[in-house]
Amino acid sequence: MGEIKRITVFCGSSTRADAVFLEAAARLGTLIGERGLTLVFGGGSVGLMGAVYAAAKAAGAKTIGVTTKQFVELEQAVPDCDELVVKESIGDRKQILLDRGDAILVLPGGLGTYEEFFDAFVGRVLGHHTKAIALVDIDQALSPLVNMIEDGIHRKFISHGVRDYLHICQTPEDALDRVLMGTEHVVDPSRMVPSGDWDESDS
Ligand code: AMP
Repeated sequence: MGEIKRITVFCGSSTRADAVFLEAAARLGTLIGERGLTLVFGGGSVGLMGAVYAAAKAAGAKTIGVTTKQFVELEQAVPDCDELVVKESIGDRKQILLDRGDAILVLPGGLGTYEEFFDAFVGRVLGHHTKAIALVDIDQALSPLVNMIEDGIHRKFISHGVRDYLHICQTPEDALDRVLMGTEHVVDPSRMVPSGDWDESDS
């Protein structure tokens, strides 16, 4: 795996989320800038997405926004990021968000964030990419998502091997440090799919 230079951030667009989430998003943006990284994000200026963008830009990060025609207005796409990619479909947008980043960080968010996370995570588990994925579980807002995956493992719908490909972190600092380590392994998909060859003993 090459050096990690571009961080894709998935996070909520809600303008009503509590300050603790906006502060965490801004902290992550600042860290991305301070460490000389590039931010790849959803291109909007609202909610956590807007907070991570503004802080990253203020801290000197290069910024790449990826949105859709539908969301340019709805989410007030930022006019001044270094590159703004506007796609027709959410599917194309998600693919570019994934392709353009070297690692993925997920902050709390809504349906859009969940969809983006699962797309990236399933791709990782199936070996379609080897990018590190870290959840930043601010105020335990992502704990229900983690618990749902754990419940699926407990019920043997999901291989316990998937745990190896999900970093669960409490702070933006921890999450960034984890993905910058660059210690990701190539997946053996037979250990990952529910019908595959996996050992149930420690699930
Ligand atoms: P959200 O986490 O729902 O605030 O959204 C995060 C990103 O996903 C936003 O930038 C939206 O462009 C997109 N998005 C918003 N709502 C949805 C949705 N219902 N389904 C898929 N994507 C969405």
